[in-house]
Amino acid sequence: MVPEQYLRIRVLGTRGSVPVCGDEFALYGGSTSCYLVEAGEERIFLDAGSGIVNAPDALPRDPVILLSHMHVDHLLGLGMYSRLAQPGTTTRLLVPARSEREAWEKLDRLYSPPLWPIRLCDYGGDLQVNTLPSFMRIGEVTVHTELGSHPGGCRLIKICFAGKTLVYATDFEHDDDACARLAQFAGDVDLLLYDGQYDEETYATHRGFGHSTHVAGLEVMRSSGARRLLIVHHDPHSTDAMLLERERSLGRSDVRFAREGEVIEL
Ligand SMILES: [Zn+2]
Ligand SMILES: [Zn+2]
Repeated sequence: MVPEQYLRIRVLGTRGSVPVCGDEFALYGGSTSCYLVEAGEERIFLDAGSGIVNAPDALPRDPVILLSHMHVDHLLGLGMYSRLAQPGTTTRLLVPARSEREAWEKLDRLYSPPLWPIRLCDYGGDLQVNTLPSFMRIGEVTVHTELGSHPGGCRLIKICFAGKTLVYATDFEHDDDACARLAQFAGDVDLLLYDGQYDEETYATHRGFGHSTHVAGLEVMRSSGARRLLIVHHDPHSTDAMLLERERSLGRSDVRFAREGEVIEL
């Protein structure tokens, strides 16, 4: 039987910086960055923010988790991802680092006492930690990464499968050079996930924080030829009403603000 060829992305968490909860965040969600890419049988997580706690238990394959960078909002859920504690399971975790040893050192900064009771390597499952390369294959899926634009560095991640492509550009601050590089990296992509943490007014007082706006995202969409744009990494101060207003003001069916729990088929 020929395996099913589909590429889709499940939004498990899309809040930036810190999780939030409450009625005013019910629509777009409060969990921090985590997306599950379903490419045929392969399961690839983009980041491991608190949204990874919402991941489905049953997966057809051992998953691979790709970390864009080591900021805590992108790592926050890892320690409570149920699979890591299950004996007999294997999970691969790819970390932006120069060596496997450095990757472990970075993980240990958060996941060891006094900040966390035990190291990730002491969980019951088999966690295989490696460095995130600029190119790799996961089964039939190809993954490219490239340096983005963020304090301390953050990787842009491109995933290609079955003739479809998505690019994950979280924690990205726009400037001419960075946008030109991203537009080239994301050329003709089917879906571009783009950091739209701020609106123009908020951005004016947050320059250099490493985040962008949906308006800059539209410009990258145009210059890259991306077919669809998904705005991610919503500011913890942005309520549903604010995000809905921004989304509606665009009036476009090919641009969405990501909602926790939604599944987007490419
Ligand atoms: Zn972040
Ligand atoms: Zn960050």
